[in-house]
Amino acid sequence: MKVLVPVKRVVDFNVKVRVKSDHTGVDIANVKMSMNPFDEIAVEEATRLKEKGVAAEVVAVSCGVAQCQETLRTAMAIGADRGVLAQTDVELQPLAVAKILAALAQKEQPQLVILGKQAIDDDANQTGQMLAALLDWPQATNASKVEVQGDRVQVTREVDGGLETLSLTLPAIITTDLRLNEPRYVTLPNIMKAKKKPLETVSPADLNVDPAPRLKTLKVVEPPSRSAGVIVPDVAALVDKLKNEAKVV
Ligand code: AMP
Repeated sequence: MKVLVPVKRVVDFNVKVRVKSDHTGVDIANVKMSMNPFDEIAVEEATRLKEKGVAAEVVAVSCGVAQCQETLRTAMAIGADRGVLAQTDVELQPLAVAKILAALAQKEQPQLVILGKQAIDDDANQTGQMLAALLDWPQATNASKVEVQGDRVQVTREVDGGLETLSLTLPAIITTDLRLNEPRYVTLPNIMKAKKKPLETVSPADLNVDPAPRLKTLKVVEPPSRSAGVIVPDVAALVDKLKNEAKVV
């Protein structure tokens, strides 16, 4: 069984992003970039399926600029066997990514595609769902447990009231939630080994996909800054403020 894992290069989660002065987006010049954390979980899960003998091959895919190669090398250091870069300088929105991934899925014929539930830069939470719709494959989002059983996959999802378990026929689309697993540390020997793994580059045009954005960002602004807190001398003063200033009691 082949598993396809889409990995996105995003601003590292430790970076405090700054809005550009012209309000067209956030400044990513000279900012540390990393693999989207939910995608690390997806690569880890696919690698565990391979280690269990369930998956035969794990293919990492990234869509975007040439530097996404670094993200693919990280995926290969975790355990992916090879990488495919769909290279473009065009700003990619979830629908364009889903179309590229659908074309690659037609070509690669994986039994499972494991994506992150959302990218921490745009927080769209759309690509997996759009991909499932384009391919007309079953989908299970926000997975906290994945078990492949013959030609089906059982996926446990955390929902408001508890846990929901779905059984999907393969091929299927899964998106990962935080509690699915804890990705391993990438070791130096594995980083060295990853450098020798195959990495293929294609363009959206090779896949007959027009990646042009369909949505226009009108304005990006910082959230309003919060005013400083005050220390009240005693409980009576607190109750007074809650009653007369905040008017919540
Ligand atoms: P989003 O819908 O943008 O929140 O992204 C959800 C998931 O889709 C991510 O966690 C990735 O697995 C995948 N994805 C989104 N954009 C890309 C990209 N440019 N390259 C590869 N995978 C992507």
